[in-house]
Amino acid sequence: MKITDVKTILTQPGGEWLVIVKIETSEPGLYGVGCATHGERPLAVRAVVDEYLKPLLVGKSVEDIEDIWQTQYVTSYFRSGVTLNNALSGVDGALWDILGKRAGMPLYKLLGGKVRAAVTLYTHASARTLPELEDQVRKYMAEGYRHVRVQLAVPGFSGYGVSNPTSDEVRRMRPEGVAPSPVFEPGPYVNNTIKMFEYLRSKLGFEVELLHDVHERIPPVQAITLAKALEPFRLFFLEDALAPEDVQWFGHIRSQCSTPLAMGELFVNRNEWLPLVANRWIDFIRCHISAIGGLSMARKVAACCELFNVRTAWHGPGNVSPVGHAVNLHLDLASYNFGIQEENHFSQTLREVFPGCPEIKGGYLYANDQPGLGIDIDEKLAAKFPYKTPGRNRGTDRLLDGTIVRP
Ligand code: MG
Repeated sequence: MKITDVKTILTQPGGEWLVIVKIETSEPGLYGVGCATHGERPLAVRAVVDEYLKPLLVGKSVEDIEDIWQTQYVTSYFRSGVTLNNALSGVDGALWDILGKRAGMPLYKLLGGKVRAAVTLYTHASARTLPELEDQVRKYMAEGYRHVRVQLAVPGFSGYGVSNPTSDEVRRMRPEGVAPSPVFEPGPYVNNTIKMFEYLRSKLGFEVELLHDVHERIPPVQAITLAKALEPFRLFFLEDALAPEDVQWFGHIRSQCSTPLAMGELFVNRNEWLPLVANRWIDFIRCHISAIGGLSMARKVAACCELFNVRTAWHGPGNVSPVGHAVNLHLDLASYNFGIQEENHFSQTLREVFPGCPEIKGGYLYANDQPGLGIDIDEKLAAKFPYKTPGRNRGTDRLLDGTIVRP
């Protein structure tokens, strides 16, 4: 059976710029879909798929998944960039989907079968005040969630996950001549985050698992301070305490405290995560699966991590398409060293554009038993949601003095 056509489908049914690859085959009606979503630069991914990969794919056997991945990985000579990886992921997901459909099995069976009934999710709570944040966590606990990520706005400052408007007091601290921007400062953020955990643990106790995302915003030594200060509050994990550029510092955090560490949504290259795993510096690997090249690479990452007892926590907010979430789900179900899955709320519109969207019930994610990924795209409906702009630009916050802050 041969590949007869490859196309990219761009759609924005919610806030996110989604990229889906669809591969058609010589068997009429048999096709597969994969996620190639890089919301910041989706048109670049489309160009790679349409202009460079498609001509190499048409006529190839749909069964040669690994050979196709390895071949495409080297065709541009320079490799491991996020654009090529997303393009590879779209193709790869679609080929696995086709394999599952041909076998008449959901993908998790091809990956070795379920080792759990459903996938434990963590959800997001974020608020501008501590009582509001506590209320949100309690609401999720009442819905059945046992894991909640908590983000609290810093008074007067911007921040990741939730922000306050810049206060007049903060504005007065800025130097003359600085261009207006949202303001982030590491010190107030670190102090505020420690206070947040003190408050939440005093109100909620230790029954609920709490997570927090630093989003690589603070200098490494402040990340050490924060991780140590949070140790008594026993987080489920502290996410992206460091930027990918600073990963060697993880060894210093690990040597000083037992706060569990999760890292990886920006990783694109195996050399970025392999030392962290091999040195047992992190507890959870959090790659964005399409950004590392898709399922074929992710299942190798998962297997490697299992040998070091590092658990998976694949990146899963809205900038992973529902097709990408289906990939996460199948891998989560079949990986022994699964840790947790980040939840995305699928709107009604998303569910209509992507029939077969994974189901969320009481803090768990469930697979359907349809063959392959178990998810499809309604192309006619998807076409009703064209991109409003060519993609998202990140990086608006600046320090008081005007220095750009990592997103
Ligand atoms: Mg994150």
